[in-house]
Amino acid sequence: MPKTSAHLLEDRLALRPASPRLSLSGLVRLLVVFYLLVFAVALFVRPAAAQPAPAGFSAFVDQLWPDAEARGVSRQTFEAAFAGVTPDPSLLKKTHAQNEFTRTAGDYLTAAVNAARVAEGRRMAARWGDALEEIERRTGVDRWVTLGVWGMESNFGKSMGGQNVIRSLATLAAARHRGDLFRDELLDALLILEQGHVAPREMIGSWAGAMGQTQFMPSSFLKDAVDFDGDGRKDIWGSVPDALASTAQFLKNHGWQAGIVWGAEVVLPENFEVKAADHAAFRPIAEWARRGVTRADGSALPSRGEARLTLPMGLAGPAFLRTPNFEVIRDYNTSTSYALAVSMLGDRAAGRAPSPLPWPKEKALTAAQSLDLQKSLARQGYEVAKFDGKIGDKDRATIALWQERNGLVPDGHPTPALVARIHAAR
Ligand code: CA
Repeated sequence: MPKTSAHLLEDRLALRPASPRLSLSGLVRLLVVFYLLVFAVALFVRPAAAQPAPAGFSAFVDQLWPDAEARGVSRQTFEAAFAGVTPDPSLLKKTHAQNEFTRTAGDYLTAAVNAARVAEGRRMAARWGDALEEIERRTGVDRWVTLGVWGMESNFGKSMGGQNVIRSLATLAAARHRGDLFRDELLDALLILEQGHVAPREMIGSWAGAMGQTQFMPSSFLKDAVDFDGDGRKDIWGSVPDALASTAQFLKNHGWQAGIVWGAEVVLPENFEVKAADHAAFRPIAEWARRGVTRADGSALPSRGEARLTLPMGLAGPAFLRTPNFEVIRDYNTSTSYALAVSMLGDRAAGRAPSPLPWPKEKALTAAQSLDLQKSLARQGYEVAKFDGKIGDKDRATIALWQERNGLVPDGHPTPALVARIHAAR
């Protein structure tokens, strides 16, 4: 807060040495004069009136009220939520921003699962060990995955985003960005305020409305948030146990199977013969073990569950088995690399050793190159689900099939050299 002249006056008086000759009445007179001065100054330095919201935005808020009321939001909550709220035009620019910079899975994971974050993960696992254990007992969700999500979503509560959620959602909703999606989220956010879980000013999140330490959208909050510490509020902003329990509840509600790992970072034996179908088909983990696959630290694989193989950068880089629980993590964020980062962060925090293979140094395909690759595969009769310039799991399985049919080792990884070969093929 900027200092007013009244504050400065206060400072000067405080600095002045006390005079031993000053009488009580003199002191009273001095105080009266001082407070009159403060009063006079305060009259002139009142904060400027808040900028009025643009007419379109005010109309949007007015039109929102009947729907909010129908959902059980009181007028008092509604007005408190929108007090002084104006749209944030910078958000609309963000919705237009194209992510032009692509990174390889290796570059992304090296940055995401860095040494500092792993160390913090270990500290947080020790500090919140009792809560994590109890949450795992209640939900069946692996505590290390819960911890990994927390680390990836908000860097263990340190990066929740500083935006007023009502302002963000109202800006995007008034602009009808993605139709009614943000309007529905905004109504849910108002209901959360009505239920008293958080004060409007403390309801902060990222620019697109993902809130608190779990980065829940308001609709997820209403479905999945939990009051674990028992104070009557589902406080994913200020209570770590509430945030952790809410994360685990989200994963449970999305189908996490208790007693099954997410998967494992693995080492393939030297004579391992990868097949195109390995990228798509779930096989019993015991079958992978029979083919000589071990955990990256050399220990045996867990015996329960089914898994499929993922080679984010081909046979030259780290290899992973992933169970259906891995797909549940992708309900938080669909990116395979994100789900791997969550999983690896949890594993590292738990003390598991990484793959002995480093990530290959390679240039990532641009979105345009990936789109060309998808078109080339389709031209040759291969099934491409979506021409979006993003090479996902299905495309990688397709690439492996192409490799297998063309006499190459089907590792499913589109290096620039392989992409050139696929383009040249007829
Ligand atoms: Ca609570």
